[in-house]
Amino acid sequence: MTEQLTPMPEDWQRALAVVAHPDDLEYGCAGAVAGWTDGGREVVYLLASRGEAGIDTLEPEKCAPLREQEQLASAAVVGVGTVEFLDHADGVIEYGTALRRDIAAAIRRHKPELVITLNHRESFGGRFLNSADHRAVGQAAIDAVADAGNRWIFPELVKEGLAPWNGVRWIAIAGSERATHAVDAGPGFERSVRSLLEHRAYIEALTDEDPEAYVRGFLTMTSEMNAERFGGKPAVAFEVFAL
Ligand SMILES: [Zn+2]
Repeated sequence: MTEQLTPMPEDWQRALAVVAHPDDLEYGCAGAVAGWTDGGREVVYLLASRGEAGIDTLEPEKCAPLREQEQLASAAVVGVGTVEFLDHADGVIEYGTALRRDIAAAIRRHKPELVITLNHRESFGGRFLNSADHRAVGQAAIDAVADAGNRWIFPELVKEGLAPWNGVRWIAIAGSERATHAVDAGPGFERSVRSLLEHRAYIEALTDEDPEAYVRGFLTMTSEMNAERFGGKPAVAFEVFAL
């Protein structure tokens, strides 16, 4: 029998989801977020860029505000009211101390118990190459959890009034080929479809398929891929590190 995924921890109140681009959380994760906010938990989104390099036919200065609006709308569908943008440059986000400092500052401000990010490894399941931005932001989010807890790393943050935060108990990585945990995709599924559909300009530039058919098909396929390892239920899977 295939090794089963463990249900995600539920004894937490605040999560911070850190990704590179608008749409990164909607491609799979938003269904889990919907269930969490239904349960009265607070989830904040932190995006390293505004996704301004994401639409071939649209110049970055026009693309950035459009994708920002789409991200705010898609977050609202799953009960997320706070979305912050760090304004690193889409496509050339650099892993480094500048990015780690920005994420560590957000962790100290929002005091999450759970930090969520997207796959930081080279590929998705050994089949699809991951992007440089996803790798950089995923790794920086993981590293920033330790940075946030250490007063001697980025001491300027303490001077800005951001005390160390040592309360992160788990890091959960979405889209990982080494998933350990999962959330039932059922309760949040319809909202996950509507949430991803809010990225309409991006999706219409991406595919000639009907946007809703494309979104529904993608989210159905990815959640059903995890069913075998979650008692037959379609699921949103995460690789979880307990701290
Ligand atoms: Zn992305």
